[in-house]
Amino acid sequence: MKDDFVAACEILDRARRVLLFTGAGISTESGIPDFRGPDGLWSRVDPADFTIGRYLNDPELRKRRWRMHLDGELWGSRSVVRPNRAHHAITDLWRAGKLSGVVTQNIDGLHQEAGVSDDHVAELHGNIRRAHCVGCGEDWATTEVLARVEAGEADPMCLDCGDIIKTSTVMFGEPLPMNEWGTALVMAAQAEAVLVIGSTLGVFPAADVALEPARRGVPMVIVNLGPTEHDHLARVKLDGMAGELVPQLAQAVLGR
Ligand code: NAD
Repeated sequence: MKDDFVAACEILDRARRVLLFTGAGISTESGIPDFRGPDGLWSRVDPADFTIGRYLNDPELRKRRWRMHLDGELWGSRSVVRPNRAHHAITDLWRAGKLSGVVTQNIDGLHQEAGVSDDHVAELHGNIRRAHCVGCGEDWATTEVLARVEAGEADPMCLDCGDIIKTSTVMFGEPLPMNEWGTALVMAAQAEAVLVIGSTLGVFPAADVALEPARRGVPMVIVNLGPTEHDHLARVKLDGMAGELVPQLAQAVLGR
């Protein structure tokens, strides 16, 4: 493990720009469960309920979904979550000019809350703190929509055009946001190394942002608890907690 850690530091040190790619695993230490772990969301709800078709066609499902938000079961929208040591260490790397950018599958907004500016974070799956109308695109803070649910509108509709409202997160069956995807590809193209943190690298096309440079020979370091689907493409794999390993890596690379 010590040799792997030194090798990881050397890769990150040598690279002028590093692409950061994060998944649900970086936020578990902030109290947000991942999807595929033993306590993950999929152990409690049916993933098929998170397809866009069902959401648009089933008012009862929408009512249950808003209720889950209200009850804090989908965290982030109202419940208080804070960045952890791994998010803060990434911010240190970003402030030092070490990153080509942060590409995240997460919808929790914790990289920005830890201080990385919005235009240096590509949120491939959207952000749970915003909601929008599927018809006219009008958007609100999710908390504003939840206030209407709390006041008795179980399935609130757009106040402008009357269409359905959803959180601004990517459901199964929806395309990724084009602007975020484009930003992510630019960040990937500029990178001389890739650092993956807390992702199984099993959700596509998002994972390709990290995997495509690795396939081209750009060295990839993975920090993850347990196996990922693409450990074989990593130059170095560090198996452990992001909240411990990422601050250690950042400190070593930044020479503190
Ligand atoms: P995943 O659930 O498929 O995998 C997470 C990985 O992180 C697992 O291998 C797990 O063992 C590992 N892990 C858990 N805690 C860790 C820790 N403390 N340190 C290091 N590793 C840890 O996650 P994914 O690959 O991001 O894919 C899930 C999808 O679900 C994503 O597309 C994302 O949009 C969404 N999601 C987001 C959040 C969030 O925003 N925080 C939470 C759950 C799911």
